[in-house]
Amino acid sequence: MADSSAATDEPATLKRCSTCGTEKALNGDNFAKRGDSTDGWRASCRVCNNEYYKRWRVRQTSPQDPESEPVEPTPDEVETGLFQELANFGTQIERACLDAVLQEGSIEGAARVLGLEPGQVRAHLSELQRRAATRGFATGHDSIHPLPAGFMLRGISTQYDGDGNVISKWVKSKDAPGDHKLAMLMDAMAERDTWSRLADPVPLPEQPLDADLLNVIPIGDAHIGMLSWQSETNNNFDLKIAEHNLCAAVDQLAGLAPPAKQALVVNLGDWVHADGRGNTTTAGTLVDVDGRWAKIVAVAIRVLRRIVDRCLETHDHVKLVNVIGNHDANTSVLLSMCLAQFYEREPRVTVDTSPSKFHWHRFGKNLIGITHGDTVKFKDLPEIMACDRPQDWGETEHRVWLCGHVHHSTVREVRGCTVETFRTLAPGDAWHVGQGYRSGRDQKLIVLHREWGEIQRYTVGVRRVCDGDR
Ligand SMILES: [Zn+2]
Ligand SMILES: [Zn+2]
Repeated sequence: MADSSAATDEPATLKRCSTCGTEKALNGDNFAKRGDSTDGWRASCRVCNNEYYKRWRVRQTSPQDPESEPVEPTPDEVETGLFQELANFGTQIERACLDAVLQEGSIEGAARVLGLEPGQVRAHLSELQRRAATRGFATGHDSIHPLPAGFMLRGISTQYDGDGNVISKWVKSKDAPGDHKLAMLMDAMAERDTWSRLADPVPLPEQPLDADLLNVIPIGDAHIGMLSWQSETNNNFDLKIAEHNLCAAVDQLAGLAPPAKQALVVNLGDWVHADGRGNTTTAGTLVDVDGRWAKIVAVAIRVLRRIVDRCLETHDHVKLVNVIGNHDANTSVLLSMCLAQFYEREPRVTVDTSPSKFHWHRFGKNLIGITHGDTVKFKDLPEIMACDRPQDWGETEHRVWLCGHVHHSTVREVRGCTVETFRTLAPGDAWHVGQGYRSGRDQKLIVLHREWGEIQRYTVGVRRVCDGDR
């Protein structure tokens, strides 16, 4: 029955507000028009929109630092899924905060659900937005085209026509500088299965530990990320093999070692093969690399964490020294800072963050000097020790240098001091093999006694490391 006069009695079309969830009659009183939306109306009702703009105005006039305040999603951004896309840039906790804010409709509500303080939720969201923005994704500024990994935003040029409509946008990027690389390292570390960015303190080992013993694990040049192809070099080596071998070797050694109270884990330098996205050493020599730098750095951090965690299972205290190598002069410094922050609330771990080429460790009558070996002649190291640590030199009897760089095993007895270089678990790359370099591959653990010096050492060869899984 067609009756045009009955039009006013028809039930009104309803629309659910995407912010408050209330169904309201779809008319100009309840919703504002929006030309580019599917139904021609805004997703949120006028009440919610007004609320949002009221809060936005308060934020604009409040004396708080606007930089540190997260930009709350506009109803439109929620409607179009734009705000949700921020999750692509987030760590687990940040994604949880984002979801909770969307679910609860406010930061306070999200904080309640997550059991956090509102300030913590705000901090996580600002951090997420900051990171997304450095990758070219800033919802509040109409920039929604993320940049590839390793790049950061330099600027955006927008061309408008006479009516103020956008004609084109020019997104300018640049190679990520050092401080941004640090942020990338921190992000790689934060990508963990727990809610915190820091390691949780681990319970002490139950067995009685000998305070007179120190287990030293000098890890020869790991060269994580190096690629070696069997047909060319007789050995396959890549990111996966590096990670497996390093973790397995320390696991096996920690199982063999006596119950010493302290462990000294030494990365003897060249922990990563290439010092950045250019696939070169620090000085710029092109090297064979397995994968993207950010991926390699994530593995480099993870392996160090696993090694320290494994040592924490059987020692009361673990000290980590990351030596600067010629392959990774920048990355090694950042690694130490990352690891130091990661173990910030673990009192049983110390990370030596000194940016010096020389590191020292004193244990009773033992004095240990540590350096990569690329900048000094090995025969000069004893004098450097005497010069730099005169008091320790005088008070100790067993003085040793632990060095890397040459990838093979040597022990030089010099007056008052022994200089030892260590093998590595990594094989030679195509260039080194082509040059005729050959050396055995193993990982050692040296047991020092507080009074008597070295009393024992354990070696796991690369074959044993690989066979260990069988
Ligand atoms: Zn080296
Ligand atoms: Zn090396």
